[in-house]
Amino acid sequence: MQGFSFHDKPVEFAFPLKDGTYYVAHGGNSSIINYHNTNRAQQYALDLVKLNSFGTRANGLYPTELTKYAIFQDTVYSPCTGKVINAINSFPDLIPPETDRQHPAGNYVLIACDRVEILVAHLMSGSIVVNQGEFVSVNQPIAQVGNSGNTTEPHLHIHARQENSGETILDGTGVPMTFSGRFLLRNSLVY
Ligand SMILES: [Zn+2]
Repeated sequence: MQGFSFHDKPVEFAFPLKDGTYYVAHGGNSSIINYHNTNRAQQYALDLVKLNSFGTRANGLYPTELTKYAIFQDTVYSPCTGKVINAINSFPDLIPPETDRQHPAGNYVLIACDRVEILVAHLMSGSIVVNQGEFVSVNQPIAQVGNSGNTTEPHLHIHARQENSGETILDGTGVPMTFSGRFLLRNSLVY
């Protein structure tokens, strides 16, 4: 049952996507259902995709056109009120199955909230509308979903860590997240 429980005190965030039905492709505190789990910072990370009106994440099987993925270009909203620690906006959106392993997060926004830092990654090139040092409010639009970095298809990666616990954006000590009180797992749906 490890995948369905968490030991640290979770932090409540606003769900960062609001325009449809979203699906947790990877998530939950077990490496069996969440491949991020072997990484200490990302043990509670979520990969979010969107389901279209046919209940699938894309039109066609692994299409190469990014716009065929339901989530591509969806607005990403700040999951908390806080301050932007860093925002990277210049990596290209890649055509599947091309990936960028040198820059795993691709374009990202890292926000310092109340004693935690939260990362949203694989954002669309040029879509980020907040800058380093800027204060953001919860639910404020900050970017659009893209396909930059080490990603096999357009999706939103999100994880939280303890403040100042990592040298790089992908290090640190992961913190469990809840959204409207829910701890999301692989296959969870969010409307
Ligand atoms: Zn991920």
